[in-house]
Amino acid sequence: MGTTYKVPFLDLGGLHAELEEELVQVFRRALETSGFVGGPEVEHFETEFARFCSTEYCVGVNSGTDALRFALIAAGIGPGDAVVTVPNTFIATTEAITQAGALPRFVDVDAKTYNLNVAKLAEYLEHKCGRERRTGRLFDNETGRTVKAVIPVHLYGQPADLDSILALAERYGLLVIEDACQSHGAGYFSRKANRWVKAGSMGKAAAFSFYPGKNLGACGEGGAVTTNDPELAQKIRMLRDHGQAKKYYHDMEGYNGRLDSIQAGILRIKLRHLAEWNEKRRAAARRYRELFGADGHAVVMPYEPDWTWAIYHLFVVRVAQREEAMKHLGLVGVGTGIHYPIPLHLQKAYQYLGYKPGDFPVAEKVSAEILSLPMYPGLTNEQQSVVVAQLQQFAIELAADETREAAA
Ligand SMILES: *Cc1c(COP(=O)(O)O)cnc(C)c1O
Repeated sequence: MGTTYKVPFLDLGGLHAELEEELVQVFRRALETSGFVGGPEVEHFETEFARFCSTEYCVGVNSGTDALRFALIAAGIGPGDAVVTVPNTFIATTEAITQAGALPRFVDVDAKTYNLNVAKLAEYLEHKCGRERRTGRLFDNETGRTVKAVIPVHLYGQPADLDSILALAERYGLLVIEDACQSHGAGYFSRKANRWVKAGSMGKAAAFSFYPGKNLGACGEGGAVTTNDPELAQKIRMLRDHGQAKKYYHDMEGYNGRLDSIQAGILRIKLRHLAEWNEKRRAAARRYRELFGADGHAVVMPYEPDWTWAIYHLFVVRVAQREEAMKHLGLVGVGTGIHYPIPLHLQKAYQYLGYKPGDFPVAEKVSAEILSLPMYPGLTNEQQSVVVAQLQQFAIELAADETREAAA
């Protein structure tokens, strides 16, 4: 903080400057009408975002965390249940699980995509779960909890392998709730449907976050659930609004989890630019690959299988001596981040789950090497050249040091 970076990690200022007049209009309109919560802006945004995601329904909520939590609760997940997810995600994924009353169970990720490893999920369901003979209930052997759902996280803007996950889920009777909080507009080629589909359109429901730094970001907090299930959508509308379908008639207890109308208005304006911004991020990702060149000087590029259309919420490389690399880049004015440094199963908050180092070796190894490089639609070629030159110089010096040490 306080440092001015030559190449900031994220630059929202440029995007907002271009849209400033339109964005300020939203606030003026809200002041004139005193419409701050709910109302037409929220409804219009919901319609437009559902269309963007190719889903029937979208319900605007206060955050991505709310979106995940409400989707789980509305889908009937609660105390006594377990929900399977990955350890290398933002804690909101598992907070939603525990706050719905359920217990998180982890499976490891793929070494190339860093997304849920479907073979590991199959192994977990086959060997670490059992079936109650009489009821058919699927339970986690270790905890006895009923395994009801799986949350694949489309990490960094790249969809997990949904066809395979959905097929497994069907076989085991699990719900799939997509954590699409980093993947607004990302594409997935469904072999089953034989066409491209949108992230957030395939599971029972999907959660999106409009935290300012996300590809579609509010100027404050925001989130949404997308689904094709009208009953689920209706339950989520009630959950976000104190369990009421009609004012002061509470069919159940809910939450204060609404999307406010100023954020909805802002999101409507920004949504019109999202496809173009995602294209720009993809172009920047291609440019990084070109600049790093074939050998990459020991910098491992993100892997994008041909069945995904990633929208690069983050551009995450892997380097040796990550902390040193990060420090070097910071000193020369390049902002970077780590998403995420400690896998959830090793976080203090989850000590009670009883996991230990070595339980998820891929997530653990990757978390020690990943480095998120600057990525946003306005990133220039010159800025990218600086990032790459600096990181390569670091890698070359590191290799020279190692050679020297080996010779000594
Ligand atoms: C951002 C994010 C969330 C939470 O969204 P908020 O709007 O900050 O509550 C959940 N999951 C993932 C993977 C995220 O990146």
